[in-house]
Amino acid sequence: MQEMTYGITLPETPREFGFFINGEWRGGRELYERDSPSHGVPVTLTSRCTPDDVNDAVAAARLAFDDRRWAGLPGGARAGVLLRTAEGIRQRREEIARWEVLENGKPISQARGEIDHCIACFETAAGAARLLHGDSFNNLGDNLFGMVLREPIGVVGLITPWNFPFLILCERVPFILASGCTLVVKPAEVTSATTLILADILAEAGLPAGVYNVVTGTGRTIGQALTEHPDIDMLSFTGSTAVGRSCVHASGDSNLKKLGLELGGKNPIIVFADADLEDAADAAAFGISFNTGQCCVSSSRLIVERTVAEKFETILADKMKKIRVGDPFDPETQVGAITTTSQNETILNYIAKGKEEGAKILTGGEVLDCGNGRYIAPTLFSGVKSSMAIAREEIFGPVLSSFHFDSLDEAISLANDTVYGLAASVWSKNIDKALTVTRRVRAGRFWVNTIMAGGPETPTGGFKQSGWGRETGILGVEEYTQAKSVHIETGGRSHWIAS
Ligand code: NAD
Repeated sequence: MQEMTYGITLPETPREFGFFINGEWRGGRELYERDSPSHGVPVTLTSRCTPDDVNDAVAAARLAFDDRRWAGLPGGARAGVLLRTAEGIRQRREEIARWEVLENGKPISQARGEIDHCIACFETAAGAARLLHGDSFNNLGDNLFGMVLREPIGVVGLITPWNFPFLILCERVPFILASGCTLVVKPAEVTSATTLILADILAEAGLPAGVYNVVTGTGRTIGQALTEHPDIDMLSFTGSTAVGRSCVHASGDSNLKKLGLELGGKNPIIVFADADLEDAADAAAFGISFNTGQCCVSSSRLIVERTVAEKFETILADKMKKIRVGDPFDPETQVGAITTTSQNETILNYIAKGKEEGAKILTGGEVLDCGNGRYIAPTLFSGVKSSMAIAREEIFGPVLSSFHFDSLDEAISLANDTVYGLAASVWSKNIDKALTVTRRVRAGRFWVNTIMAGGPETPTGGFKQSGWGRETGILGVEEYTQAKSVHIETGGRSHWIAS
C-alpha cells in the first residue's frame, strides 16, 4: 500500500473481487479494471460474469425462496439479521467509505454520511419486518370471515447505478429482505465493490445462503439477462429513463415480471421573492453540486421570481464560487470528481450547448485542475429558455439552469414543464403559496424551505417518467409483497344444489 495525502492509502495493486452466488465466492471470469476517477490509478478488478452465472444466481435465489429458508422465518428473526447487518456496516464504515471514494470519486465526508443513512435503512427495515401484516374483514356476514395476507413477491432482480452505489443498494436491499424475498443484484460495472462487501456483512449477520446473490458485469449483458429472466418475479431498476423503458419491454416480452423503476429527474427549485434568499441560495448551491450533480433528485432547474431574480442569482453565483472542489480524500472537499469519462464528456457537451443556444454563464462552465482526476466547476446558466437542451434534458452534472417567473401560476407551469417528476423544492415564507405549489407540482418528493431532507421512514419514487412504485418506508416493503385475499366459511354452507 502506498501512503496518500490526507492520511488515506491507495491500493498499490487493484483489489480483485469475485462474485457471490449461493453463499459462495466465485471467480475465474474476465476482469474489468476500474480506475479511481480522482487519482487515475487502478483500484479494483471485478468479474465480467456470463449469462450462465446469472442463471446460477437466479436458480440459487429461486431455491432459497421456494424452500422458505427466509420467507418462512418469523419477522422478528429477519429483523435480527437486518439489525446485525446494520451493526456490521457500522463496524466497516471506514472501509466502505474508502471504496466508495476510490470507485465513485465522491468526498469522503459525504460517503461517511451516506453510510450512516444506510445503517438507518437497515434499522428501519428491521422494524418493518416485525410489523409487516395484512388485514382482516369481520364484516362479511356471520358465515364468512375475510383476510388479506401480505406475501413476498418472490425472487427480485436488483439493478443499481454508479452515482450512489452503496446508498441506493441499501435503500432497496433491507426492504426487499424485510418482505421475505430473495434477490440477485447487479451493480453498475464501475462501482461494484461495496455491493460485494455487503455480501460478506449479510452472511456474517446470519443471512441464509442463496438469499442475497451478486453478479457483476455490463448492463447490456448481465443487466439485460436479469430483465429478461423468466424466473425473476420482480425487477427493481434504478437508473436512466432510457434503460427503464427497455426494462418495460423486456418484462413484456418475457414473464411480465413486476417492475419497480426509479429513473431520471429534472427537478425544480422554486424561489419566491418573500423567501429567505440567503437560505434558498445556500440550498440551491447544495442542490446542484451535491455528488457533483450526479444525483437523481438534484435541483437542476432554478425557477425564481423575477423581482428578485438578479439579486438572487448574484448571491447564488457567489456561493457557488466558494464551493470546495478537489481531492475527495481531503476532509474539507465538498465536491469531488466526475465518476466516469463518458459522464464528464456529456456534462461538458451540455455546457457547450447551453452557450451555443444563447444562455449566459454566471459562474463556472470550466474544467478545474485539481490533480489527477476529472473536475468541473459548479455552473450557473441564466437566461435559459424552455426550448433549450439544458432546460429539458437531465445533464447529471453540476449545471444549474435559471428561469424567471411573474406569477404563482407561471411558477407552477414552469415547474411542471418536464417529462420528469422525481422531486421539487419550494422556498417562501407564505404558507399558502408554499402549500399551493406543493399540491400542484407533480413530483414524488417535495421539500418546503429545505432540500434533500428526510430519512428512510418516508417513501421515495417518481411521478411521470421518473418511475413506477416506491422504495423505503413501509410502502417500500409492501412494494415487494403481493396481497392474497382469503375467505373462510364459518357457518354451515347454504347448498347450491338441493339435496
Ligand atoms: P444507466 O441506466 O445507464 O445504468 C443503471 C444500471 O443499469 C447499471 O447497473 C447498468 O449497468 C444497467 N444497465 C445498463 N443498460 C442496461 C440494460 N440494457 N438492461 C439492464 N440493465 C442495464 O444509468 P446510470 O448512468 O448508471 O445512472 C444515472 C441515471 O440513473 C440517471 O438518469 C439518474 O437520474 C438515475 N438515477 C435515478 C435514481 C432514482 O432514485 N430515481 C437514483 C439514482 C440514479
